[in-house]
Amino acid sequence: MTSGEAEEPLETIGFAALSTAIENRLIQAGASSEVSRILALNCASCERDGTLSHGVFRVRGYIDSLTRGWADGRAMPVVEEAGDSFIRVDGRNGFAQPALAAAKPAITAAIEGTGVAVVALRDSHHFSALWPDLEVFARDGCTAMAMIASGKLAVVPEGARRPVFSTNPFGFATPVAGTDPLVFDFSTSSMSHGDLQLAASDGVAVPPHTGVDAAGNESEDPKAILDGGGLRPFGGHKGALLSLMIETLAAGLTGGSFTYEVDMEAPTGAHTFRTGQLYIVIDPRRGGNESYPERVASFIDMLREAGMDRLPADRRYANRAAAEARGIPMSEEIRALLAGE
Ligand code: NDP
Repeated sequence: MTSGEAEEPLETIGFAALSTAIENRLIQAGASSEVSRILALNCASCERDGTLSHGVFRVRGYIDSLTRGWADGRAMPVVEEAGDSFIRVDGRNGFAQPALAAAKPAITAAIEGTGVAVVALRDSHHFSALWPDLEVFARDGCTAMAMIASGKLAVVPEGARRPVFSTNPFGFATPVAGTDPLVFDFSTSSMSHGDLQLAASDGVAVPPHTGVDAAGNESEDPKAILDGGGLRPFGGHKGALLSLMIETLAAGLTGGSFTYEVDMEAPTGAHTFRTGQLYIVIDPRRGGNESYPERVASFIDMLREAGMDRLPADRRYANRAAAEARGIPMSEEIRALLAGE
């Protein structure tokens, strides 16, 4: 391109148009309009923010689960207040985000009453990133944590002869005075299963120590890791133990299924998994410290000044701002969605 020549405009789609297209596909697949709306907003938000492993790429998986009758897109979650701070939610084999939405009034009441809400969600499918669940709590002034026993036997810790955990994600969000919340959200495996599938379909090698093949040998071939092998936990035994804790709390404590149980019952080709999640939401003002958000802001300023200039959510917020200014970049997945493929 010579100087002065206009740059080729990037083909994009607006957030509302993308969300509506996803919503319509989920309604066609049998989900209620409310469930479809909640899942579509979540999925379009992931695409907009560049969490592509849980954006439009996942729509086929939702549709598969719905049309096979494996997940109930019309489920009516049951919310029970098991104590002043303890909320039990039976997702009734529906999706986690609508179940969390149904628990919102009870969560608000628990926070107002005691400063803490523990939300134990079972019999639910969580097929997305955790940050969209968490960011809203932080925007309302709360710190929040979440974890999922995500249900697909995919992770082989050192010493194990077969996968025993899923990629079990953990997320955290906190308000920060004067700016967007700080949110991080990661799988406890060396990489998320979505990114592994994307690497396999793109035919690119994964970094060393990502996983093992079916014979238990280290492999950088994503197809070999997917085909009977498994991912490693991140951080050796420390990641393995964090994953163990997540299974214990998000499945054992909630009454959801451990990964080894759910993977056994899921039908061939299942993409979503019927499992459990645990959320802990805290009003930080109960710490007796009204200036908590300001203190976190000063802490973050110190981290940036010390050179930690890439903090979690920076990339997502930058993508979000770009998408708000110019639209969401059109991908092959979005094209296929719009074409009804
Ligand atoms: P990533 O490695 O992509 O990102 C992990 C987190 O670290 C993000 O919050 C990211 O912020 C932040 N981050 C990345 N690089 C840096 C850096 N250099 N310095 C500081 N912070 C950084 O996560 P994963 O691939 O492990 O997981 C991807 C998604 O998959 C997650 O959202 C997770 O919830 C989801 N998942 C969902 C499952 C489910 O069952 N529903 C199962 C497993 C995973 P930023 O966002 O700004 O890049």
